[in-house]
Amino acid sequence: MSNFRFKALEIAQSRQAIAVAPPAERVGDYYGINTFNKEVMRALLSPEAYLRITEAIETGGKVDRDIADEVAGAMKSWAISKGATHYTHWFQPLTGETAEKHDAFFDITVDGKAIEKFKGGALVQQEPDASSFPSGGLRNTFEARGYTGWDPSSPAFLMDNGAGGKTLCIPSVFISYTGEALDYKTPLLKSLAALDKAATAVGQYFDRNIDKVTATLGPEQEYFLVDRALFYARPDLVLAGRTVFGHSPARGQQLEDHYFGSIPPRVNAFMVDFEFEAMKLGMPVRTRHNEVAPGQFEVAPTFEEVNLAIDHNALLMDLMEKVAEKHNFKVLFHEKPFAGINGSGKHNNWSMGTNTGVNLLAPSTKPKESLRFLTFLTNVVKAVHDNADLLRASIASAGNEHRLGANEAPPAIVSVFLGETLTKALEDLETKNEISLNKGDNVYYKLGLNRIPSLMRDNTDRNRTSPFAFTGNKFEFRAVGGSANSASTMTVLNSIVADQLTKFKQDLDVRLANGEKKELAIVDILKQYYRASKRILFEGNGYSEEWVEEAARRGLSNIKSSPEALAVYVKPESLALFERTGVMGHAEVESRYEIELEKYIKKVQIESRVIGDLAMNHVVSTALKYQNKLAETARALVDLGMNAEAEPLKDLLREISTRVIVIKQKVEAMTETRKKANNLGNTVATARMYATEVKDFFEVIRYEVDKLELIIDDEDWPLVKYREMLFVK
Ligand code: ADP
Ligand code: MG
Repeated sequence: MSNFRFKALEIAQSRQAIAVAPPAERVGDYYGINTFNKEVMRALLSPEAYLRITEAIETGGKVDRDIADEVAGAMKSWAISKGATHYTHWFQPLTGETAEKHDAFFDITVDGKAIEKFKGGALVQQEPDASSFPSGGLRNTFEARGYTGWDPSSPAFLMDNGAGGKTLCIPSVFISYTGEALDYKTPLLKSLAALDKAATAVGQYFDRNIDKVTATLGPEQEYFLVDRALFYARPDLVLAGRTVFGHSPARGQQLEDHYFGSIPPRVNAFMVDFEFEAMKLGMPVRTRHNEVAPGQFEVAPTFEEVNLAIDHNALLMDLMEKVAEKHNFKVLFHEKPFAGINGSGKHNNWSMGTNTGVNLLAPSTKPKESLRFLTFLTNVVKAVHDNADLLRASIASAGNEHRLGANEAPPAIVSVFLGETLTKALEDLETKNEISLNKGDNVYYKLGLNRIPSLMRDNTDRNRTSPFAFTGNKFEFRAVGGSANSASTMTVLNSIVADQLTKFKQDLDVRLANGEKKELAIVDILKQYYRASKRILFEGNGYSEEWVEEAARRGLSNIKSSPEALAVYVKPESLALFERTGVMGHAEVESRYEIELEKYIKKVQIESRVIGDLAMNHVVSTALKYQNKLAETARALVDLGMNAEAEPLKDLLREISTRVIVIKQKVEAMTETRKKANNLGNTVATARMYATEVKDFFEVIRYEVDKLELIIDDEDWPLVKYREMLFVK
């Protein structure tokens, strides 16, 4: 094994950057060439079909069968002309991976001739064998059927299969035979529709021309890169996606010299390569840089409509994994691949835009627009305040559990950062009670609202420790995990804001019916909302121990474990919210809860097995061999009469023995606990036991193993060390 480690290191060190040539000189010449986009459709479809399909894309409406037939025909000839041999519905089942099942365009006619076939029916709907995807009890065993259905709002694209041609991928939803959602996309689309409806209704108080509100998302993706050879020499990375052992290198991220530093050439080649491929697929990747931890990087696209942004993020992750192979890297999206250094998140930058071209979360210089801005801002704050636990549930996973509250990531406490200026504006709103609207815009002056814009422009205050931060013209939800599909968190955020805006409209309509003046009523409602939700606002250091105490005093939740966080999904008030907003029925939410718990159990179970296996078969066995060497040396010293000199060796032998005994005992006890957990016969109880009693062994075992790493001869140590994985470039 140690030979394996040194062989891997040799391979890793001998690597060179692989040169990458741009597909064309100008981005415009290759941007989106692998997508069936509007331009292609305009060229290939009849004007009638083009109009109907673009309408359907913009309004989310249905596509008639005859139009679907025409689109299918155009897609087929476009795809085949670009080298595609197969097509697939591309969807996002609740496993967290993307799924595809390739069918050939090619078919045989009754008289044995080969033809290329792809009709509207196959475009609109398909029936993959769904029985191997999680359904959380939504699908009876005898009813293994599930359907995928075309989502016209996300353009079809071509994926290169490596050596074997290309596949036309058609973004799709995935539902059960009885119509329940089995994927991430279906509830997301429903939440976007709910938000559109609620936000448009509120927008209309300010501008009658607002008839559509689109939620926008720019996901900043963090990741680690590890050399491929080193990756395969770490069974824990291969099996669990994170290292379960490994002593921190003498030099970690304390120098903070990696962040925004120059990008190593091999890494740069990889980045350039996947960015080219991403742009060909119509993804607006824009920024790349080193992240805080050594070996950690980030890619961020320009924001897009949420559904599209999420498809693009899922596709980008797939693409990065593929391109990494070519550059002999492995991409780690895991939230915490290495202990003691930063983990990876996916910052979800979110806002709402209108058909009139207004970003509803952008402060304005005009007082009237400021009221609109404050209305949306305050409603978002209220929504987050009232549903903080649900938002926390939406980011719960085995991986993210290592990150949240772990001192260098946003805490598990949900709080909102607004910055000094906005906090002040809301304070003014609350404290100035007597307001007369007679003097027109003066009221805004009295409210101090006109101060927002001028100050906002140079308002650069930033708080990197807040999980939910206002960053100038959008909110940034930073607690989302690096490996997550953002859809679950975006579904919750859209739903709670939609629900809150609907309540706001109801509150306002009651007052308007009572003859109150609109602006006055709005200001008063916002004042009440602010008062009711201000305890969630926090401007200080979110990573500090003081905040944990302060948050407890304020009565804010601090849900650390995933099973506990996930349980919020099935609380009566959560079920009611999803039902009210039309996003998910009870059975759908309950099945999701079940699936998330099962995923959690499996992940922790795998980690626990890997820990046991590595500890016993790699670490303990190596320790015993090293003990033999030491013992021989000690014996030789004693034979030579050098008793005093033999003492330190005996101490070492004792230390190794003690640690080996602890490891062995703990591994055995962990296995027993796992058995107990597995036999509880109740997913909730099993998950809780894994989160507590099973996981409690992880740190204890790791502590002993990491100590042994410091003692045992480097030549003998079987696992690639942190310094080797993180600093090889
Ligand atoms: P930062 O200072 O946090 O790096 P950037 O301006 O680089 O901010 O933006 C980070 C991400 O936020 C990018 O993906 C960007 O496109 C996205 N973003 C900017 N404006 C919006 C918006 N209105 N809605 C959603 N995302 C946005
Ligand atoms: Mg950011």
